[in-house]
Amino acid sequence: MTQHVMIIGGGIVGCMTAMELVNRGCRVTIVERNQIASQTSGESSWAGGGIIFPLLPWLYSEPVNTLTNNGANFYRELSQRLQLETGIDANFEQSGFLLLPAFDVKSAQAWCMQNQVPVQAVKASAFKVQSLSGEDALWLPTVCQIRPPYLMQAMRKWLEQHKVTLLEHTQLAPLKETQRLTEWQTIDGEKLGADQFVVTSGAWSFELLKETTAKLKVKPMRGQILLYQPEHNLEQIVYREGFYMIPRRDGYLLAGSTLEDVGFDASVTEAVRDELRIKAEAIMPALKNEPIIKHWSGLRPGTPENLPTIGAHPTIENLYLNTGHFRYGLTMAPASAQLVAALMSGEAPRIDATPYACR
Ligand SMILES: Cc1cc2nc3c(=O)[nH]c(=O)nc-3n(C[C@H](O)[C@H](O)[C@H](O)COP(=O)(O)OP(=O)(O)OC[C@H]3O[C@@H](n4cnc5c(N)ncnc54)[C@H](O)[C@@H]3O)c2cc1C
Repeated sequence: MTQHVMIIGGGIVGCMTAMELVNRGCRVTIVERNQIASQTSGESSWAGGGIIFPLLPWLYSEPVNTLTNNGANFYRELSQRLQLETGIDANFEQSGFLLLPAFDVKSAQAWCMQNQVPVQAVKASAFKVQSLSGEDALWLPTVCQIRPPYLMQAMRKWLEQHKVTLLEHTQLAPLKETQRLTEWQTIDGEKLGADQFVVTSGAWSFELLKETTAKLKVKPMRGQILLYQPEHNLEQIVYREGFYMIPRRDGYLLAGSTLEDVGFDASVTEAVRDELRIKAEAIMPALKNEPIIKHWSGLRPGTPENLPTIGAHPTIENLYLNTGHFRYGLTMAPASAQLVAALMSGEAPRIDATPYACR
């Protein structure tokens, strides 16, 4: 009999989980309190920068890098498939990553060698970035990016084409402990049934499960980004001390982002706008003459050490979790979705699931 799976949360993690389950023959419903692929304040997926690589991966644990490496490896093929099947181009491209000092160059080079990530020690002045002098930098030419709002639109269309039910503007209420779930109640009291359930509710996952035995360490971490459209754009992603700039192929330029522990407040602030603007102008002085076209924020599902929870709920037998991807959910989503779908279907997963289990 075909399994009916209900996914709670229609961000990138929920959408990719749905895709994996559809590919395994499941009937899938996504329940989303807002609208999937809309640019609604708060959700993380549309708001992200779209770098398909961690910032300074040598600072993270092996399980984090296993997910980002595996996820990143899927993107080229995934974006080609999405374009072919939906007609939507998610703007996947290899823009390269220029890392400016200060950071631990030896650890960086060792990590890149070990992980087969091409890396070159360069002088920053070799790149066409106005302010850069002869400082020592690292160039990672194979790092890629994707355009999150376009990726979400393509995912939405693919899911519709594959008969996934999208129950939008429908918010599920926090769950009570039980042995097995047959239905989950909305905040309006409607009961929605399925055979299996997956929580992919991003920053809101803790709230949804806090009355069960799963005490997730997920909390919202706000990130703000500025958008420019400079006359002369960068040609690569540039990073310096926690700050990055991402050039888009149609001439836009993102400058971000922040890591703010401010609860579920998804507003943008003048103070951060000034802070980001100063950092952006330090790398590209010509931005002093350019207007800021847009300023937005998203709430990342923050977790200690950036380690997501992927796997079965500790006590509710037909409930699974795929949440807490923090700074790298776009990069991790394909691998993370494959892992949870394999566990749900009783397949041997491609990567060891132990580090991500819900304890
Ligand atoms: C500024 C910024 C820059 C970033 N840059 C990058 C980057 O360059 N590379 C990278 O890999 N990652 C990046 N990220 C991180 C990445 O965006 C997140 O890790 C990822 O989007 C998390 O996806 P998600 O699906 O778990 O969460 P979300 O996209 O937040 O989706 C969760 C969904 O669940 C829904 N929901 C919540 N509660 C309920 C409920 N009770 N009922 C129904 N629906 C519910 C929400 O409405 C939401 O749509 C960035 C994030 C930000 C904010």
